[in-house]
Amino acid sequence: MTPAQDPLAPGARLFFRLDDIGPLSFKTLHLLEFFETLGSSYLLGVIPDALNWWTRRALRTFRHAVLYQHGVRHRNAASTEAPDELPATLGLRRIQSELARGRDSLQQALGQPIAGYVPPWNRISEPALRTLEADGYNFLSADALYPTTLAQRPVHVDVYAQYRPVVVRSNADLQQEIDERLVQSAPVGVVLHPLSLPSNNLSGMQDLIRRNQGRPLS
Ligand SMILES: [Zn+2]
Repeated sequence: MTPAQDPLAPGARLFFRLDDIGPLSFKTLHLLEFFETLGSSYLLGVIPDALNWWTRRALRTFRHAVLYQHGVRHRNAASTEAPDELPATLGLRRIQSELARGRDSLQQALGQPIAGYVPPWNRISEPALRTLEADGYNFLSADALYPTTLAQRPVHVDVYAQYRPVVVRSNADLQQEIDERLVQSAPVGVVLHPLSLPSNNLSGMQDLIRRNQGRPLS
């Protein structure tokens, strides 16, 4: 089992990260198949306990998807204001066993080693972070940089202006932010949630992806 190539090898300027992958969703599968046709790497946050049989089957055939673990159950065990699946209050032992169980089931299901982690709600507690380091994960992708020895793949641009209800930003607005950020720092990470993306935004989103995935990448 060789791990998929990391999308952010030196030289990569931009990457897309798709979160909450697992449940059966034809819209999601359609979007992933679209990414496959573009022929360059993209990042997926896969929820171990939500991995549907059809999704799993598709993920095993994709050649450009880089698969990171996205929590375990993706359930909030903290407050609504600061959601976190594995907060310090759970205790180190429980955090260790949950993370290991999630990773094992994902590796078994996908037939490849999992080296990266995307914390649900982009929030990770100190004991969870130390567990990732001790367990030999190599990559962390959140929305900010954390003090850790893991290599980090932060996302900077969110295609949603608002989550409840979902409001998708215009492509012009997104493109402007992407271009501005590319000047400041590379690589730039763009996050999207295919499950909740309104169907009438799908083709607009594909335009944005096509335009930016076409840029020089690794
Ligand atoms: Zn999520």
